[in-house]
Amino acid sequence: MLKIQKNISLAPLTTFKIGGLAKHFVEVSSENEILEALDFAKENNLEIFVLGGGSNILVSDDGFNGLVIRMLNTSCIIHNTSIECGSGVLLSQIVKESAKNGLSGLEWASGIPGTVGGAIRGNAGIPLGCMADNIECVKILESQKSKVKSQNYNLKIKTLKKEECKFGYRSSIFKENKDFIIISAVLKLEKGDQEEISKKIKELIENRLKVVHPNPKEPSSGSFFKNPKVDNLELIANFEKDTGQKAIDGKIPAGWLIDEVGLRGKKIGGAQVSEKHANFVVNIGNAKAQDIVMLSSLIKMKVRDELGVQLSEEIKYVGF
Ligand SMILES: Cc1cc2nc3c(=O)[nH]c(=O)nc-3n(C[C@H](O)[C@H](O)[C@H](O)COP(=O)(O)OP(=O)(O)OC[C@H]3O[C@@H](n4cnc5c(N)ncnc54)[C@H](O)[C@@H]3O)c2cc1C
Repeated sequence: MLKIQKNISLAPLTTFKIGGLAKHFVEVSSENEILEALDFAKENNLEIFVLGGGSNILVSDDGFNGLVIRMLNTSCIIHNTSIECGSGVLLSQIVKESAKNGLSGLEWASGIPGTVGGAIRGNAGIPLGCMADNIECVKILESQKSKVKSQNYNLKIKTLKKEECKFGYRSSIFKENKDFIIISAVLKLEKGDQEEISKKIKELIENRLKVVHPNPKEPSSGSFFKNPKVDNLELIANFEKDTGQKAIDGKIPAGWLIDEVGLRGKKIGGAQVSEKHANFVVNIGNAKAQDIVMLSSLIKMKVRDELGVQLSEEIKYVGF
């Protein structure tokens, strides 16, 4: 029997450490428990929010007035060169398991927080690789509004092949369809040298801590905005001259644009544009979600007005 709890604080379950209460909250560790949780939501006419590692969300100060389903389905089985894992497994866990078994291909994910489910939905990645590179198939639960009046919803379990997942830059079919709950996935890897894999993982984590991640005392949700595609050739030339990097596919890092408008270090309440990486908005002490929203609005406005580029959020707003 599932334990549905009431009025659970969501802030500690997010990397931002911000947000109000979940009116209803449940942790699920199997497909059956996910189904039970959905039954509860339907019976009580509640909106649901699927929570992974909480590393790519901003929860409203008013919390979430529905049922938060926290994915703790953490099974992880290695079959020769593939890994079959529940969506609640941490990315760090599968990186560790693959290295331990001499499997290469997931090194890019080293140091990225969150679960496999969250990473699939957002096609998490770095320039070196992304979730789509490893996906063989994804098992989902789809809840559709029923045409039969006496039944509210139809639940369908489906397995999507990689081509059906419509992966793009930080996007997927799962992001477009909020009725899709990712249950598990099969990831494909290849045999590699255990020592080399571990060395690569160590290097990537060290580099992240040195150049990307803000101070651990300044919680964040990772990159706040997606890197926009820009068609202003002068801006692209400025970026390339300034950084010595290429704007691949016309994309310019959001952090560079935020720096250009002078917002590195800008504070509103407890929210600040990170001094270390301008695309990280950080919680420098008891920030309210409202502080983050105001700071992100200022960033969007200045980048749009001064550089003519529209930024869009990589993070997901919950309960707004
Ligand atoms: C310090 C730091 C560094 C980061 N670096 C990177 C990086 O380099 N690259 C990168 O891409 N991201 C990065 N991120 C962002 C984040 O770690 C990833 O986006 C991660 O994949 C989110 O996974 P999650 O489990 O935490 O998702 P959550 O934050 O819990 O949820 C995000 C979204 O996914 C949905 N979701 C979660 N699980 C499921 C599921 N099973 N089925 C359906 N929907 C689901 C949620 O409903 C929500 O809409 C970073 C974050 C931090 C804090």
